[in-house]
Amino acid sequence: MEREFPGGKRLRLVVGDITRVPADAIVNAANSALRGGGGVDGAIHRAGGPQIMRELDEIRARQGGCPTGSAVVTTAGALPARYVFHAVGPIWRGGQHNEPELLASCYRTCLALAEERNLQTISFPSISTGAYGYPVREAARIAIEEVCRHLERPDTRLKEVIFVLFDQATYQAYADALSQRAPVE
Ligand code: ADP
Repeated sequence: MEREFPGGKRLRLVVGDITRVPADAIVNAANSALRGGGGVDGAIHRAGGPQIMRELDEIRARQGGCPTGSAVVTTAGALPARYVFHAVGPIWRGGQHNEPELLASCYRTCLALAEERNLQTISFPSISTGAYGYPVREAARIAIEEVCRHLERPDTRLKEVIFVLFDQATYQAYADALSQRAPVE
C-alpha cells in the first residue's frame, strides 16, 4: 500500500524483513540498555555485523543507555543503509503510563534525526508491538499519524518513509490505520 504526499513524497507499507530493504536509515526497535535482543533487534545485529554493537558499546560508555521514546545513531555495517537509528519504544503496561506519547516520540525523534542528516529514505519496523506488547492497532494508528504529519510538512527533505512489517496481521493493522487517516486536502 502507498500514499503520495504533496511534493511527490511517499509513504509505503510492505511486508518483509527490514534488513533486506535499502534505505538511508533503518530504524531498530532497541531496548534502553542498547544491548541487543531478539526480534528485529537480533535480525539487525545479525545482518549488520559486529560493527553496530561496537558503536553501541561506545555510546553506552559515554551516556549509559537510551531513554524510552528516544533513539541513538550508529552506522549500518553490512546493512543496505547508511545509518541505523536505535529507537527505544515503550513497554506496554496497560496504556496509562504515557505509552502513546512515548511511542509517538520514537517516530518523531527518528524523523528529526533523518532530517538533520538530509536523508531521503527511512524505514521503520512496528516499534513496541513484539516483545514489548503494545497492541498493534493502537501502535499502528500512532505510527501512521506521526509519519503522515511529518510528510505533510512542506519543508521536509525525506522523500520516502517505508514501514517494513514482518507479518500479514501487522501489515493489515498499518494498512487499516492508513486507510482511516484522512489524506491531505
Ligand atoms: P519490541 O521489543 O519493540 O516490541 P520486537 O522486535 O519484539 O520489538 O517486535 C517489533 C516488530 O518487529 C514485531 O512486529 C516483529 O514481528 C517485527 N520484526 C521482527 N523481526 C523483523 C524483521 N527482520 N524485519 C521487520 N520486522 C521485524
